[in-house]
Parts: sequence; C-alpha cells; structure tokens
Amino acid sequence: MGSYSEFHRRSIEQREAFWREEASRVHWHKPFSQVLDYSRPPFARWYVGGETNLCYNAIDRHLAERAAQKALIWISTEVGEEKSYTFAELHAEVQRVAAMMQALGVGRGDRVIIYMPMIAEACFAILACARIGAVHSVVFGGFAASSLAARIDDARPRLMITADGGSRMGKSVLYKALVDESIRLAKSPPEKVLIFRRGLDPKLQMVAGRDVDWAELAPKHAGARVPCVWLESNQPSYILYTSGTTGQPKGVQRDVGGYAVALASSMERIYCGRPGETMFTTSDIGWVVGHSYIVYGPLIAGMTTIMYEGVPIRPDAGVWWKIVQDHKVSVMFSAPTAIRVLKKQDPAYLQKYDLGSLRYLFLAGEPLDEPTHVWISEALHKPVIDHYWQTETGWPILSAVPGVERTKLKFGSPSFPVYGYDLRLLRESDAADAEDNEKAVVAIVPPLPPGVMTTVWGDDERFVKTYFTTFAKKMVYATFDWGIRDAEGYYFILGRTDDVINVAGHRLGTREIEEAVNMHPNIAECAVVGVADPLKGQMPLAFAVAKNATGLEAPENRKRLEKEVMETVDRQLGAIARPRAVHLVTLLPKTRSGKTLRRAIQALAEGRDPGDLTTIEDPGALEQLKNALAAA
Ligand code: ATP
Ligand code: MG
Repeated sequence: MGSYSEFHRRSIEQREAFWREEASRVHWHKPFSQVLDYSRPPFARWYVGGETNLCYNAIDRHLAERAAQKALIWISTEVGEEKSYTFAELHAEVQRVAAMMQALGVGRGDRVIIYMPMIAEACFAILACARIGAVHSVVFGGFAASSLAARIDDARPRLMITADGGSRMGKSVLYKALVDESIRLAKSPPEKVLIFRRGLDPKLQMVAGRDVDWAELAPKHAGARVPCVWLESNQPSYILYTSGTTGQPKGVQRDVGGYAVALASSMERIYCGRPGETMFTTSDIGWVVGHSYIVYGPLIAGMTTIMYEGVPIRPDAGVWWKIVQDHKVSVMFSAPTAIRVLKKQDPAYLQKYDLGSLRYLFLAGEPLDEPTHVWISEALHKPVIDHYWQTETGWPILSAVPGVERTKLKFGSPSFPVYGYDLRLLRESDAADAEDNEKAVVAIVPPLPPGVMTTVWGDDERFVKTYFTTFAKKMVYATFDWGIRDAEGYYFILGRTDDVINVAGHRLGTREIEEAVNMHPNIAECAVVGVADPLKGQMPLAFAVAKNATGLEAPENRKRLEKEVMETVDRQLGAIARPRAVHLVTLLPKTRSGKTLRRAIQALAEGRDPGDLTTIEDPGALEQLKNALAAA
C-alpha cells in the first residue's frame, strides 16, 4: 500500500502543511491565522482565528451551482411518505426554523436539545442551530425520560424541540409525553418547547406558556432571511452524548472549523462521494454517524442525502436496495447489526434491484464479524468497507481510504489508521509499542486531528482524566478498545478493554470467543460474557441466535447444536475458551444502535441488577435471556 502509507505519513510528519491544504475544501469567511495551536496539551485548537459556519458550508455555498438539485430526500416506510427538498428549498426551510428559534429567544451559544424522530424537520432544526451559532444537542429518540433529564441538566438548554411522536415497526412512539416527563425530572428545564405535530398523538397536551406549536409559529416566519453567524473555528458546534454502553455518557463537544474540514475531506477521500450524487446512511440523527454522514458530511460535499424512517425489513427485506436503485445511491453507510438482520432474510431480495449506482457500502458501530463481512460482500458484489470510529472522534479512526488508494480489503479488518491519526497499539503494562500480532490498547498520540472532540462539555478536567490518563508514562488518547495489527499492517479490533475475562489466569477477549462461535455455519450472531466461576475465576457464557431454527424446539437438537458450537470454539481457540454453556435464543439484548448490552447480560447471568436499560431495542430479549438462565 505504497501511496496511502506515504499519504498517512505526511499527515503526521507534516501535520500543519497537510491540514492547511485540506482546509481549502471549506469556505472561510475569515482566514485562520494559525493551523494548529497545541500550546495546552492535550487540547488541540485547529484553524485558530478562522471564521466559518457549518450551515453555510452545507447549504449556502452550493446555491450558485446546485439550487435545483435535491439536497434532502426523506423517506418513511413507517407512515408511507416521501418528500424531497432542493438546496434552495432546504435553504428556505432552515432559515424559517432559524427565525422561529430566534423568536423563542435562542441566540449564539445557547443550547438547544433536539429530541425528534427521523423527520426532515429534525434536519432543519440541526442546520438552523448551526446557522445562528446555537449549540445543538440531539438526543436519540429511544432514550427514556430519566436519561433525557440527565442530558437536560448537563446541557441546560434554552429550548427543546420535539415532535408528537415517531413510528417504529408501525407502532407510534410518543415523544412529547416523554419530554414532559423528562422536564418534570430535570433540575434546569428549558423555558420553551417547540413541538412538531405529525398527528401521531391524538391525546397530546400542550403546556400553556411553555409549549409552542410548530404549525402556529412557522407561518409567521415564512420567507424569513436569517444570515449565517460567523463563528471562530474553535467555538462549540454541538454536544453529543456517547451511547453509554460502558458507563456514564460523556458530553462530547465538537468545534466548527476542524469538524467542517474533517467531514469535507473524508467525504472525498474515504467515502468517495461526488457532488451531485446521493448518499444513504441508515443511522439515526441521534447518533454521531447521523450527525456526520446523514446531515453535515453529504451536504457539505454537495451531495443529496437520504433520511430514512423505518427498519430494514419493512415492508420487506428489499426496501433499502430499492432505495439504492430508485435514488441511484452511490455511497451507502450502515451498521453490522442491520446486515445481520438482513442475513436472516431471503437473500433473493438483494438480487431484485439494480445496484449499479452503488460504489461502496461502509459499515461501522460495532465489530463486523468475518462471516457477515463475507456474506454481504458476496451478496452485493461490491466492496464492503468496515471502518472503526467513536462518538468522540466524529469521523473514522481506522478505514480503507479508497479516495487515496484502493487497497485490498481483508475480511474482519477495518484496514489502516486514517490520515491525521497517529494511531498506536500500546501494551497495557508499560505503554510500549506492541509487536505485529500482539494484542494491545488502541491509542492515539495527540494532538488529535481536526473533527475530533475538543473537550467534555463543561468539564475540561474530565476530558483529560477520562481519555488521557490510561498510561502513567504517556499522555495518549485511549480508545478503550483492544486491537491487533498483522504483518501486512492491517488492524483488527478485538473488543473493548473492559470486555476481557480471566479464565484460570488466561486473559481472553469476549470478542475473540464470539468470532469463534460465529464460525459455526448455523449461528447468525452471539454474545459472550464472562461470569464468576468458583474454580476458574471467570468462565465464558455464550448466548447465540441460530440462522435456521427449524427443529430447535426439540431438546436433543438444541443440545447437539450447543455441543457443536463448543467444539467450534475448541478448534478455533482451544478448550480454555470453551463457554460454560451455550444458550440458544432468538434475540440478543441490544441498544437501538445495535450494540450488544454485555454489561446487562453479565449482570443477569451473575444474578445482579442489570441497571439502566432504557436504550434497549426489544425488552423481549431480556425475558428470553432470563428464561434461558433459569432453565439451565
Ligand atoms: P460509551 O462510550 O458511552 O460506553 P459507546 O462506546 O458504545 O458508549 P460509541 O461512541 O457510539 O459509544 O461507540 C464507539 C465504540 O463502538 C468503539 O469504541 C468500538 O468499541 C465500537 N466500534 C465502532 N465501530 C467499530 C468497528 N468497525 N469495529 C469494531 N468495533 C467498533
Ligand atoms: Mg465509548
């Protein structure tokens, strides 16, 4: 991989020259005076003194050339609607919402919590905040009232924007009622709540003096012209709380200029998206992927972006591929969990549509196991690029970078460190660089590149303490993930550093055991956790979902499959890693972003309280787990 490795090296060794060039991809109202100020490690300030605006780069800048091009296509298979907005129309909608927000007292630096389903108005609200210099904090619609209240108290918003409801699998999910509850729980609630009504909650109650009906306010601001507020590059653009998979969510704060540059650069170099083309990212605006690659990234790149409300298998498992065909999607971005859902459906759905426009499918969010990677690559006949990143980083850390060089892909590997990241694998014991094929902590030597979080909202000290103090000897950013690099320089993520179990003195990653379980041809997916064992300290315990469950009602067939799975693990990793038991279930407990709730599974398996489960996708999964454990 000659030329990419050269490119990467230059991004580190000639950091400022490199990022000065990349900065020319965005519009600067006022040029920056310094590329990087790193006088207060580990805080990196990019493009000091430069003034820009994310909304200007996403919309206004394109008006001369693309006013009539579609900017946003909203598709809901939940309510059976589709609507599109050209750049000119999006410009008008965003200015109207910006004017509405100003009328409700929102100004530069004020926080606005957006708690909305996947509707176009959510995108308008995000861009309107950016336009007037307000700091948005989008909270994923799946969070419960108490989680929302905690975020309200941390962000102290002047305004909250919500909708009456969303829809999932044809069932209404009430948002406004939950917002009411969260405001009751919060210590510092906003004065105003703006509500977009879709007609999903006939019993909706407006609170006098606080609640404002979008439909009443909007006509007063039709045709509004609201200029972009120019912000110094290091002003906050938004706060986004991490998923909370491993603990208390952290308020990730992002800047303006560095983020704009990182997105503009990655859209071309990583995603190979071209102006005028269409990108389809199946995530949710409540997650970082939605911020970067549903809303800001594609628009900054002059692309059409698709916002999708619905699931991948309704009305049938071909719905996403139909969207790719109908809208000539060239770049698609999804998550391994969705692909595993599709893997359980009839593969014929993938052959039904013309996918000729599609160049790449990118996947991120959790480990992409090799069998799933192979399956989707073969089904699509397109390169499927696994890439690894975090809410904290805002854009990929490990990825193939086909816009620079089309390197060979390896199944199960998110390829190489992305340019700008001085990525290291460090030994946990002494922070020394690990050898090839040696498992170690994935770390980044600061300064962190543009686009990555600048601090924890309101708490610089927590930023330093949380991310930069893992190693006593070196101030490096810890990802809290294990990784390994092979002799060809390809990286593999082996799971989180807190997902390690200790079996009779052997340290085993639960991810490795999961990979081994997945090697069984009839296993679709699994979760492995460590449970306390009086003899060995800890033992792995597996919960697995069969691809084909025919005949598995019979105890002897279940026993046979369980035994085969154990033998598969023996062959792959040795008997030391063999699970104490393999429980067959039809569903794993996951967050709505597809992350397996290992902490909760482990707690249940050890008979402890599973804690806050508000982000769980389907509570039925927990019931199954409990039943399986009780029957054992
Ligand atoms: P919290 O930090 O609050 O516990 P979280 O880590 O789940 O929540 P995210 O930032 O959404 O929140 O997730 C990032 C994590 O997801 C990574 O640190 C990694 O563990 C996992 N991940 C993301 N992409 C990949 C990938 N391609 N391969 C393996 N793991 C991935
Ligand atoms: Mg994390």
